[in-house]
Amino acid sequence: DLFVYDVQESPWPANEPAPYSFLVHALATLSGTRSRTIILNTLTNTLRALLNWHRPSLLPSLYLLSNCLSPPYSSVELGIGSSVISKAIQHISGLTSSALRRLYNSFGDPGDVAFEAKSNVRTLVPHPPLLIVAVHECLLKIANSKGQGAAKQKQAIVEKLLVSAKGEESRYLVRTLSLNLRVGAVRTSILTALARALVLTSQTSLGGPDRDHSPYHATSQLISLVQPPAAEGKKVSDPAREELHEKFIQAEALVKKVFVQHPNYEHIVAGLFNGGLGSLELHVPLTVGIPLHPTLGSPTRSLDEIYDRLGDLPFTAEFKYDGQRAQIHGERGVNNGNPSIHIFSRHLEDMTTKYPDIVHLVKCIFREQPQLQSFIIDSEIVAIDPSDGALKSFQELSNRPRKDVEMSDIKVSVCVYAFDLMYLDGEVLLTQPFRERRSLLRSRFPPFLPSDKGAGRLDHVESCESEAGKDAIEEFWQKTIKSRSEGLMIKLLSGGAMQEDGKRKPLPATYEPDKRTSAWLKLKKDYVVGLGDTLDMVPIGAWHGNGRKAGWWSPVLLAVRDPRNDCLVAVCKCMSGFSDLFYKEMVAHYSEGSDNCSRQPLWETNTGGFRPDVYFRPHKVWEIRGADITLSPVSLAALGLGSSSRGLSLRFPRFIKTREDKSPEQASTTDFLAQIWKDQQGQSKATAGDADDG
Ligand code: ATP
Repeated sequence: DLFVYDVQESPWPANEPAPYSFLVHALATLSGTRSRTIILNTLTNTLRALLNWHRPSLLPSLYLLSNCLSPPYSSVELGIGSSVISKAIQHISGLTSSALRRLYNSFGDPGDVAFEAKSNVRTLVPHPPLLIVAVHECLLKIANSKGQGAAKQKQAIVEKLLVSAKGEESRYLVRTLSLNLRVGAVRTSILTALARALVLTSQTSLGGPDRDHSPYHATSQLISLVQPPAAEGKKVSDPAREELHEKFIQAEALVKKVFVQHPNYEHIVAGLFNGGLGSLELHVPLTVGIPLHPTLGSPTRSLDEIYDRLGDLPFTAEFKYDGQRAQIHGERGVNNGNPSIHIFSRHLEDMTTKYPDIVHLVKCIFREQPQLQSFIIDSEIVAIDPSDGALKSFQELSNRPRKDVEMSDIKVSVCVYAFDLMYLDGEVLLTQPFRERRSLLRSRFPPFLPSDKGAGRLDHVESCESEAGKDAIEEFWQKTIKSRSEGLMIKLLSGGAMQEDGKRKPLPATYEPDKRTSAWLKLKKDYVVGLGDTLDMVPIGAWHGNGRKAGWWSPVLLAVRDPRNDCLVAVCKCMSGFSDLFYKEMVAHYSEGSDNCSRQPLWETNTGGFRPDVYFRPHKVWEIRGADITLSPVSLAALGLGSSSRGLSLRFPRFIKTREDKSPEQASTTDFLAQIWKDQQGQSKATAGDADDG
């Protein structure tokens, strides 16, 4: 439900910088709820107060709420180990190391430990309140402390912060430093709240505040930022509510659209302050050098299903190469100087220094094409045999070092298989149909094999058009099966109407950042047998192994993401597909008592009826294949989506590989699990129907 709460007076002395306690209050509220309404209202009203009363605090607050310091593509990282944090807590609290260890043993969470340790400290001279802006600056200083003596510098900054922190502030400071904020706010909620806050801030037509209330001085009063009691909250009449709702929807769509094309809070906030929502797109456009969120594909199980869904809409079937997704940005230098080149991962990290051979390739392309000014290409980088260009496995590619690679050290040759063009010479191409984008890609970026040894290659993806007929597509599929590719990517060439849930729905062939679109369908070779798609799951716990596996973790408890409750929820135990080496690495990585493995559940996960011996810090994503999805008496995953009384589980799960390119935020969701379950149900019904007919 919607609560509009007019803030007549500043929650802190007017126009002075916002205190950190204000944000901490919001964080505490967020961590105490799973309700999306409360999360959104808390975030909206928090951001709104900042917009009203101290705008310079808005940007640092967005970063602090997201528990990051900068956009994903800039490599600003806190780089602070748990020992530095522990030493700082010990130093400011005067606790002995064994007393501190006892606190860790009973609380587990470093934030809770800091809170407890600090609660026994008497301060004689009161410290001035911590400010949001200052906390963010300190975190940046920590990130920028490098080289000799960095650990000491970092510790000194943490101590300074902790000395000034009061009450709950210590808990959330340390959780922020440990990169485990434990609040259920994700990027989408923050963007939605930002949009709503902007609408409400510029909203004057609602009649203004309808009652007086005392300013939010005391922290406890801030709770009303969430959901004021009916008498206190301003009741919005129905027409006004509808109007506001409409404005929210428009603003949310706009802010999200801008963010997925230009994921940089700093630029967005500056754009908003410069021209408001109205000119946000103009101020924060798609920009070469800043990665956009990629389009993603939806899984299908067979060519028949693809024809059922797309009907006679024209599509192309492309090889789904097994490599690493790469967004390549290039811009000619001023006065024909060195071009600026960036290569971004699927996860928007800058991996330019991993691929000097591709940087070299792009430089060659700029040299060959004097008219080319700028571009953004979507592609898959694949390991190849340099002698004949034959595709090699993903494993070969993963043998390449991750960064700062020198040309002379390159042992694995690569080819860039380009499949989309989002930007060319100053023109954004996202809204053009794929047929147009592809034709520009093909004509402006022909296959390129630099004559220099060691430079990467550029090629177009191998493909086959639906216009060539069903037999040709079937033949292409057979070719895919024999090839080293993962399967097919089926892409709509021009927009039309598709078949979904028995209805025809409009389907554009535009480039859709951050969407798992039905205009891109993937058909993996393994779909044909077993489960339709692999799942990207997060290991969240384990049991002690027996027999041959004594001393190792087996089985491991796997979870998917529950977007409704913003948490991970356990699905199944997995004990197959791991090599002995992998088991050993797992024991080293998740060693009991380390930051990654604890006897108590320290991390925000829902284990349902599973009771593992230990809990893992949920930070890895594994690709898992299974036989099928079943209803489970112990899993709570997708409860209410598949069945009202039971969760869903995965039968015969098998580990395929670690998804280095994904974070738990991008793990498969409960909705995805439920969708596979529903598809499976539909299929078994269809099979039963066929049998009856026969
Ligand atoms: P998956 O786990 O199946 O690779 P994903 O979630 O990483 O999926 P999807 O968009 O669902 O991403 O699947 C497409 C992925 O396949 C892309 O991210 C890309 O890395 C890879 N790929 C290989 N060849 C192509 C191609 N021709 N077109 C698009 N993507 C391709």
